[in-house]
Amino acid sequence: MLTNAPKGTKDMMPEEAYKWQYLEKKFAEICRRYGFQEIRTPVFEHTELFQRGVGDTTDIVKKEMYSFMDQGNRNITLRPEGTSPVVRAFCEHKVFANPQPTKVYYNIPCFRYEKPQSGRLRQFHQFGVEIFGTTNMMADAEIIAIGYDFIKEMGITDVELQINSVGCPECRGKHREALKKFLEPKYDELCPTCQERYHTNPMRILDCKSPIDQELVKDAPMMLDYLCDDCREAFEDLKKNLDAFGIEYVVNPKIVRGLDYYTKTAFEFVTTKIGAQGTVCGGGRYDGLVEEVGGPSTPGVGWGMGKERILMTSEACGFEIPKPEGTEVFIAFMGDKAREFALKLMHDLRVAGVAVQMDVMGRNFKNQFKLANRCGAARTVIIGESELESGMLQVKDMESGEQTEVSIDRIFDELKK
Ligand code: ATP
Ligand code: MG
Repeated sequence: MLTNAPKGTKDMMPEEAYKWQYLEKKFAEICRRYGFQEIRTPVFEHTELFQRGVGDTTDIVKKEMYSFMDQGNRNITLRPEGTSPVVRAFCEHKVFANPQPTKVYYNIPCFRYEKPQSGRLRQFHQFGVEIFGTTNMMADAEIIAIGYDFIKEMGITDVELQINSVGCPECRGKHREALKKFLEPKYDELCPTCQERYHTNPMRILDCKSPIDQELVKDAPMMLDYLCDDCREAFEDLKKNLDAFGIEYVVNPKIVRGLDYYTKTAFEFVTTKIGAQGTVCGGGRYDGLVEEVGGPSTPGVGWGMGKERILMTSEACGFEIPKPEGTEVFIAFMGDKAREFALKLMHDLRVAGVAVQMDVMGRNFKNQFKLANRCGAARTVIIGESELESGMLQVKDMESGEQTEVSIDRIFDELKK
């Protein structure tokens, strides 16, 4: 059928959209507490930005991008992630020239051509935070803390923070050699993707999802054992800062952000509540990225969080998102004169900030009351010809069923309460 949404996309119908509003409001509120400001960048960028900023050897760039030539023959890509565009804007607007650090957050749709399944869509949605301009591990801890707090405030009880260090370009070289030597005799057993990674980006083999590969790397050399003094100190510092924040974590030496411009801190928040796609948030430090995208050497750290996965986990943990407030007043009317009066009253109340509804389908009184109930109205005012003549209107409390009489000249003030 022509009218189906494309594979891997999802409509957010009103029954669900209010949950997203709650999530977004809560996230913005926490960002305010932490001193992060919102940044909004375009939905599409020059393809080259992601080739450089995400990396040519990653799954995202190799096979997941929605790229096309536009009518002016530019190579364009729908944003598959949030960090590279933020880094581009940071450089383009010379934000690096301001006093640092820079703390920003984003709330965006992302696009990846993946195999759709539970927790994996082609249009999905992310929150993200970034801090630029400092190598101090207090920033890494703060980045982790804001994710931790948000996850907790969404009622998520089943989640584990896993941290690691991926070192720096200096110490990574030695680890890479050791890892390749370890994997060489097992090469033929690796999955085809990891055989490729063996040549381009062997560290990524450590966090391959295939159980066979997981078994093969069980005793592989880990980056943590190869850290240089500077990187080891930074990792210890991070742990101390997390302890100071009172945040629990486990060290998982297999967490990888496998590109040269990712450095030191790598982490994930993982849940067992939503099946195989259990990473709700992933991030780390990227001290080489700003330079890679063409700016002056500037350190950075941040994370991206899947909004779909956060909501799924939150619901799986039994967290109930409060329904938004509905209609406060329903106006039931009958007859032309009553309609004129009712329309004016409804509009005045709406202007004054009251949520008011009226029937627009010519229903009789009985059915207007049914509608008032469906709208969740707290009070219903009844306006017919006789009420207009007597100047006394009935206001019904929909919960108790109690009716009170209010004179026509006081009705606006009464309903505005
Ligand atoms: P995964 O291992 O699940 O593929 P990733 O490493 O590709 O994740 P990131 O690029 O780090 O993910 O994105 C940050 C977060 O965005 C993920 O932790 C996840 O919650 C979410 N996410 C990533 N891809 C998708 C997708 N296709 N559909 C829904 N959420 C996604
Ligand atoms: Mg992925």
